[in-house]
Order: sequence, then structure tokens, then C-alpha cells
Amino acid sequence: MIRRAAFPVVIAISVLAAAVAAHPQTKHFSLDAGQSQAEAVHFLADLVRIDTQDPPGDESKVARYIESVLKSEGIDSEILEPVPGRASIVARLKGNGKKRPLLIMGHEDVVPVDRAHWTVDPFAATERDGMLYGRGASDDKAMVAANLEVFLQLKRMKVPLARDVIFLSEASEEMSSPAGMATIVDRYWDKIDCEFALNEGGGSLVENGKVKYFGVATAEKLPRGARLEATGSSGHGSVPRVDNAVTHLAAAVAKAGTWDTPARLNETTRAFFERLATISPPEEAAWYRNVLDAKVQEELKHKKPQYYSMLRTSVVPTMLKAGLKSNVIPPTAEATLDIRALPDEDLGKFREMLAGIINDPQVKVVAEDTALSMPPAPPSKLGTEMFAALEHAQKEVSPDAMTLPVMTTGATDSSFLRTKGVQAYGIGVPRTEEEGRGVHGNDEHIETKQLGLFVCYLFSAVTQVAAQP
Ligand SMILES: [Zn+2]
Repeated sequence: MIRRAAFPVVIAISVLAAAVAAHPQTKHFSLDAGQSQAEAVHFLADLVRIDTQDPPGDESKVARYIESVLKSEGIDSEILEPVPGRASIVARLKGNGKKRPLLIMGHEDVVPVDRAHWTVDPFAATERDGMLYGRGASDDKAMVAANLEVFLQLKRMKVPLARDVIFLSEASEEMSSPAGMATIVDRYWDKIDCEFALNEGGGSLVENGKVKYFGVATAEKLPRGARLEATGSSGHGSVPRVDNAVTHLAAAVAKAGTWDTPARLNETTRAFFERLATISPPEEAAWYRNVLDAKVQEELKHKKPQYYSMLRTSVVPTMLKAGLKSNVIPPTAEATLDIRALPDEDLGKFREMLAGIINDPQVKVVAEDTALSMPPAPPSKLGTEMFAALEHAQKEVSPDAMTLPVMTTGATDSSFLRTKGVQAYGIGVPRTEEEGRGVHGNDEHIETKQLGLFVCYLFSAVTQVAAQP
């Protein structure tokens, strides 16, 4: 095993060990928090240094790295490489078969970088002031590093398992391709078939240096595009025409982009806002207790757009296309809308409503597939053994925080698992709002202390659900 000379030990090990000992199922398997943090940070740094910008991905380099780490600990693994150079890797620790497997997964690829806007080399894994910087430091190599660390600890501690624990590090999450999750589920399902899965997506929040809540994503909005097509008569730019396609499109875009679509709650978001109210300052708590109130909606739209989006199918204009020359009125004009649907949305009806809002016979609303063609998937349940274990793990590692079920507004590969009946939960290394903005942005980073905390959290949840009592 590879170890760092200087351990950035931050977690209070004694407190954690005491908390862990209080839970009967995990008392035999307490983690050395400092050592596991150091090792996870080391893995993360190694992973960040492997450039897997997608496109083109080149994830096989990550898969080979993980293969060698697993091999050095005596764990067999299998490389899945449906597209040359774009490998995923899967490994399994066997249980006694009493329960169906648990899958822990993360993705190997990262979004591209614009180096001009970074203050550090995005692939150097620079550590500074307790932070680790680099593309993928948060999304999603931290998850891969934490999963790897927990997987190795289960093996080293010889934790007797009541169910198999499967490790998966997957290619091609950021840009769907034949190397990604759709193919893995389709072609290699027997290798990952499971009852529960833990994946990215939770969005745990750090405020004032402390974890405020651990988000557990049980549902996600569905990316579904639409196009607005405006038509009119073309002509010379010197003569105004009332049927100008550009003018009609612009008016339609304005109506679509400012439409307050109907708001409603589901099991996940209802629990999210109820619990969030209990840990928020009075003014915000009042909002969260009355989220469907029109005045509250207005506040959220301006101050908490993320929460505003969680309450509805959202419509966001993102691209415009019209005209070739400044003095020619074009006969057509088009806009692209990013529509993120609630899991139970009837999209046909929704597009009819949108057409009604636009109310212009010159503008058509046309359904359009986006690059993110996730399958519709039922939300995962809150009343499962896995959700309870995550909640318990949170109480162990961060008793003052809270577990909030979350519906993510973005999409993850958990959808592919949910369509197969898997109860999939999105979790993640706790981060501040500012760190959250670095995801897919510039100077992406995470706090190494939070990665250490997350490893303890994950280890606790996994052992509760998978270890023999
Ligand atoms: Zn991701």
C-alpha cells in the first residue's frame, strides 16, 4: 500500500470511535479515521492526475490504476471495455448470499477544463489550505476514491458479509456514449445486479465549517428537451413585418422562460422541505413550511433557485438560432429549451400547456431528445434498510447534522439502475455552496477533511447494510 508521509489528520478519532461503538452492528469494524482519510486523499490525488476529460474520456487509464490497487490487496477485478480505451472496472467481495448485493459506484470521466480560468494546474492535484484542487476532485473522483477506500477496508478487516458488495467505477457519465451506464446495464447486468446502490448526487452541505445536512438523492428530474419553431414571411430588413419570425420567437422565448410552471411536492421533496425547515433560520424555515405558497415561490425563485426548481418541471431557454444576414428577415427562427421534468410529469400535456402559454399560431412547440437521454425512472424509497443505514451513519459521523432526502435537478446514472428496480441513493462528499459551484466550473476542489468524514460515513452505512449482524 502507498502511504503519504504527512497525514492531514483532522477527524477526532476518539469521538468517532465512541459513536461507532454505540451502534451494535458496527462495533467490530471501526475505522482508523486518520489513516483512511490519508489513503483516500492519496487515491483521489492519483485519480485527478489521470486526465480523463470527456470527450474523449480515455477512462481505461483510471480502470488500470484501480485494477493495480485492487490487485495489490489481493482483490480480483474485471475490466469492462465495450469501447476501446473507455473501460469501466468492477470487483466483488463475496457475502454469504443471505441478502442481495450492494453496489457502490462512481464515474471516471470528467468535464473538460478551460485552463485560462484556473489558478492551479487542473491535473496536478494541488493541496493547499486543507483543500485538494483539480478537475474531478469533487465530480466524481472523490466518490471513486472513497468507494475504493471503503472496499479495501472491508477486505482488510475481513468483514463477514451478508450480501456481496460490488465496486464499480464507470466510464462515460458526463457524455452519454456506448461506453457508459446504458451499455453496462444492458450488456453486463449480471456483474452489477443488486438490491441497493450508492452513487453520486446527494449534495451534502457545509456551512460555517460544519456539515448542515447530508443529502441522500432518491429521485431526479428527467432531462427532456423541446424546440420552439417560429415561422413568418421573409423579406428585406428595411420593411417591418408583423409576422417576423424572430420577433415572434423572441416573445415566445420570453413567455416560456418566465413561466411559473405548476409547483407540487412528492414524497422526497415533501420530506426535504419539512426537515430543512427544522434546521434553517426563522425566515427561511417559514418558506420551507409553506413552499407551495405563491409569495414563497417568488422568494425562492430569486433567492433559492435550486429549491424553486425542485418543486416543478422547469423550462430554461438555452440556445437561439435565426437569420443569416443583418438586412434579411429569415423565414424561420428556433429556440432550444432545457426542460427538466418531475419524475411523474406527463410531458405531452406539459408541452400543450406551454403552447397555451405562448399562444401564438406562428410558434410550434416540438419535443426534442437531449444528449442526456435518461430513461424515466421511479424514485427510490425512503423506508428501506439502506436509507435508514445512511441516516444512522450520518448520526454517527456528524450528530448535529441531519439527513435530507433530495431530488436532484440534474441527472445521474442512477436512473439506469432505478429502471431495473434497484433502490439507488445519491450521496456525496459534503461541500460548501461555493465548492458546489466549482463542479463543472473552474478551480474545482474539495476539503480533504470532508473526504475523510465521507469515508467514515460510507463505511458505516455499508457495514450496517452488508455486514453480518
Ligand atoms: Zn458526476
